Amino acid sequence: MNLIAHLEEFTLLEWILFSLLSNIALYLFSIGLYIVIDQTCAKQKIQDEAFPVTPSDVYLSLLTVVLNTVVMLIAVYCWKIGWLEYNESATLAVSIVEIIGIVLVMDFLMFVFHYLAHSPGLYPLLHYRHHEHSSTNYLSLFVLHPFETLGFGLMMITVFICYDFSITAIAAYVFINLVWGTIGHLNREFFPKWADRLYVGTTRFHNQHHIDERHNFGFYTSIWDRLFRTFKR
Ligand SMILES: [Zn+2]
Ligand SMILES: [Zn+2]
Repeated sequence: MNLIAHLEEFTLLEWILFSLLSNIALYLFSIGLYIVIDQTCAKQKIQDEAFPVTPSDVYLSLLTVVLNTVVMLIAVYCWKIGWLEYNESATLAVSIVEIIGIVLVMDFLMFVFHYLAHSPGLYPLLHYRHHEHSSTNYLSLFVLHPFETLGFGLMMITVFICYDFSITAIAAYVFINLVWGTIGHLNREFFPKWADRLYVGTTRFHNQHHIDERHNFGFYTSIWDRLFRTFKR
């Protein structure tokens, strides 16, 4: 029996456990990846000091893991009721094109909603907690207001509902998002110099947003910030 056929047989309890364990694994993978790159990367630190890890950030990051589990269960529910369908016959080439498509669409949506999250009405309600990290650490990616986590998850599910992507493309995007988020919050530039010229959203690009909140609202790319003149190197 293949994995998808096996998953179709899952009970609600099995789905809850599967989603929770998957999200705990992704959380630990992100922290591990962060520490390994930080310890092995020879490049200079971007900021002198990493933001200290506090108990309240640990609790909030664990809440983010629980909410990501809820998002995954909502996606499963949408799949069960037929709203979210996936393409079973996509070739690898089609999946690669789909991954690029998802990244670009999500990049634009994240730019728009991130920009809005910085409006005076929403910022103190939604986004200030992430920006308490004036410099970053291995938990910064997960230090988010619960509405931010749910908002991102629902936005992603909406994109998946709008088009029947392959399971490969969906899984790859979720993984790329985690790795990019981890890299984006490092305190050392992960990307080579030329990445900036290709409009990649580098580590320094997002770190600059933590230093100066009026710039760099994009995430995977700097395209939208360059276009709307909010880009800062
Ligand atoms: Zn950040
Ligand atoms: Zn922000």
